[in-house]
Amino acid sequence: MEGKEPVFLSLEEAIYAVKTDITHYPPQKRLFMELCPLVLGPDIRLTDDSRGRGLWISMPARCGRVTRMHPVTASSLGILLVEALEKSPPACEVMAEICRRTFEIRTAVAGGHEPGPAGVLLYLDMESFHCRQCGACCRALNYRHEISDGDYRRWKEQGRSDILERVAVITRRSRTVSYAAWIEPGTRRFADVCPWLIPAGPEGRQKRWICRIHDVKPAICLEYPGTKKHARMTGCRGVDD
Ligand code: SF4
Repeated sequence: MEGKEPVFLSLEEAIYAVKTDITHYPPQKRLFMELCPLVLGPDIRLTDDSRGRGLWISMPARCGRVTRMHPVTASSLGILLVEALEKSPPACEVMAEICRRTFEIRTAVAGGHEPGPAGVLLYLDMESFHCRQCGACCRALNYRHEISDGDYRRWKEQGRSDILERVAVITRRSRTVSYAAWIEPGTRRFADVCPWLIPAGPEGRQKRWICRIHDVKPAICLEYPGTKKHARMTGCRGVDD
C-alpha cells in the first residue's frame, strides 16, 4: 500500500468507511465510548460500570429531559452510532475527528470551497508496510462479494477470460447488481480457497505464497491492508516492527 498522498473521502464515503469498521470487527467498546459524544452529542451520558455490570447509557429525550440510564451492549452501541451517523451526518470537522479515532491515523478536513467537494483527508501512513507473502489475508479474509464494477470492466478490457470465468455476475431484473468471486468455472459454487494463490516453495514446506494474478488482482486485494489498524485487526504481519 502506498501512501504519502492522503486519500480523499466525501462525507458519505467517510460515514460508510466508519460504518464498515464498526460493523466488521468485534465490538470495540473503548472506541465506541470515545465516539459517543462526537456522534450522539455532548448531552449523552455513558458509563462503564466498574462493578462489571457493563455499559449504561442515557439519551436526551425530545422534550429536552434526560432519560433514565439503561444497560446497552457494546454491539448495540455500535449500531446506535452507525444509525445516528447515517441519519444526521456530522460536519466535516467532526467527521475528520471520528475518522482519526476510528482508523487510528492522521486526518484533515478537505475542500468545502469551490470547486472541490467537502470531505475528509486520510493519511494512511503505510510507507513501512512490507508484505511477507504469508498468504494469511488470501486464505482467511472473506472478500467474496467485494469485486467491483471497475475490476470486472478492467478484466474485460484486458481479455482475461481466465479470471472472468471465475466471477459470478449477479443480476436482478436483467441488471447487473454485483459480482461474486471466486467460483468454480461453469458452476455457481465458490472455490474453497483462492484459486490464484500458489506456494512459492516446495510443497508441504512453503512459507511464502504467490498471487498468480498479482498485477491485475481485485482492487480490494491491491488496497489491503488499508491502515495499520486494519492490518492488526485482520492478522496481517506486514506492518510488524
Ligand atoms: S496477511 Fe499481510 S503480510 Fe501476509 S500476505 Fe497478506 S498482506 Fe502480505
